[in-house]
Amino acid sequence: MAEYTEKIPQHRHCVSCGKAFVGEGKFCSEECQRTSGDEVKSKLRKYLILEVILVGVVVVALWLGWK
Ligand SMILES: [Zn+2]
Repeated sequence: MAEYTEKIPQHRHCVSCGKAFVGEGKFCSEECQRTSGDEVKSKLRKYLILEVILVGVVVVALWLGWK
């Protein structure tokens, strides 16, 4: 069955949608790359907002305690 396996093209799986594709990179298309990038950015933004809220709560708690 060596002949059969040789006929399967070298392929990758898209990091964004999981589809198999032939080519370079992590994504099957530019659209997937863009979508994935936006997802990462929005996740990072959510994390940053959470961080700011937590710091704000700590600052207020310290301020109330100090007062
Ligand atoms: Zn994709």
